[in-house]
Amino acid sequence: MKPFVYSGLPSRVVFGPGSVKKLREEIERLGAKRVLMLSTPGRSEMIALVGKNLNVVGVFDKVVMHTPLEAANQARSLASSLKADCCVAVGGGSTIGFGKAIALTSGLPVVAVPTTYSGSEMTTIWGISEGGAKKTGRDPKVLPKTVVYDPELTLDLPAAVSAASGMNAIAHCAEALYAHDGNPIVSLMAEEGIRALCISLPEIRKNLRDLNARSNALYGSWLAGSTIATTSVALHHKLCHVLGGLGLPHAETHAIVLPHALKYNSDAAPEAMARISKALGSKDAASGIFDLEASLGIAMRLADIGMKHADLKLAARIAAEAPYPNPRKVEYDPVLQLLRNAYEGRRP
Ligand code: NAD
Repeated sequence: MKPFVYSGLPSRVVFGPGSVKKLREEIERLGAKRVLMLSTPGRSEMIALVGKNLNVVGVFDKVVMHTPLEAANQARSLASSLKADCCVAVGGGSTIGFGKAIALTSGLPVVAVPTTYSGSEMTTIWGISEGGAKKTGRDPKVLPKTVVYDPELTLDLPAAVSAASGMNAIAHCAEALYAHDGNPIVSLMAEEGIRALCISLPEIRKNLRDLNARSNALYGSWLAGSTIATTSVALHHKLCHVLGGLGLPHAETHAIVLPHALKYNSDAAPEAMARISKALGSKDAASGIFDLEASLGIAMRLADIGMKHADLKLAARIAAEAPYPNPRKVEYDPVLQLLRNAYEGRRP
């Protein structure tokens, strides 16, 4: 047993089919009365369902990915002009990101109702993009006070979004297992998170409305979010951040890069790889993740999600220039090779 530091974060989780009916009680528990609902466009039916019985003073339904500053400022102004005393974010990591942006400057409590597997609801990590660059930070203010996981709300999440988002959650777990500041509790959660997701994602692919599989996937994403909430991310997340800055979609990029990032780190983090393989029920962590993804029918090549070949060197340079802890030293040539493999979708 190595020495470790463990910090628990103060969030409350209400989990289970139909749990969205408890939202009113949860909001009252926070002492809040005037709710601003947040969502991506076109989700009015879900917002009406979730907002039933709540004192909704407004709806901001212009959420887009990566929290552009201008849009975040619109949401902040709306919250303040309506004198909202609470935000309810119903959606994926993008929607929760807007709740966090509001909380960052106003301190308003956020209640998250996650409908993807991003895990953002469990973290203090915020991100705001401006002029093509995304600034991120950690601040306890942005951690949702309460998270209501209702698998019934995820039954219509499209197959491709479910799969990519689930792989994003597995990526959190995988990097938490070799984080330089990891600990035994986080490792338990990470291994269990991978197990829950690698069983449920193929079941969801077969039947989008499988409530049991949807429950297990949300359970896995809760664990996944909890793992990166208190540990540092490494090469995989850094690379995806760089690729996101080049315009690539978040969850899909995570899904494609993960097996290659694991291959990069495999010899330097044997214990983590053994736990990932065990959770997957595979012989090898990197190829096990690759095969899981292939079985989910999602894009397997960066070339297929908008990566320009000419940008591979730029991405490798940015990822290799700022030093950060990673099991294996981050160096330009092998990182470029990793990216080339991901660009072409080679099985690691
Ligand atoms: P997303 O929130 O952009 O959602 C993807 C799509 O799915 C959207 O079009 C959305 O409208 C749709 N959708 C969501 N729920 C649905 C449902 N139940 N039914 C049908 N459609 C639904 O994608 P995401 O991958 O969840 O989040 C990505 C964002 O989250 C990125 O900006 C990323 O940086 C951020 N993120 C942050 C953290 C953190 O800790 N801060 C962690 C992970 C991701």
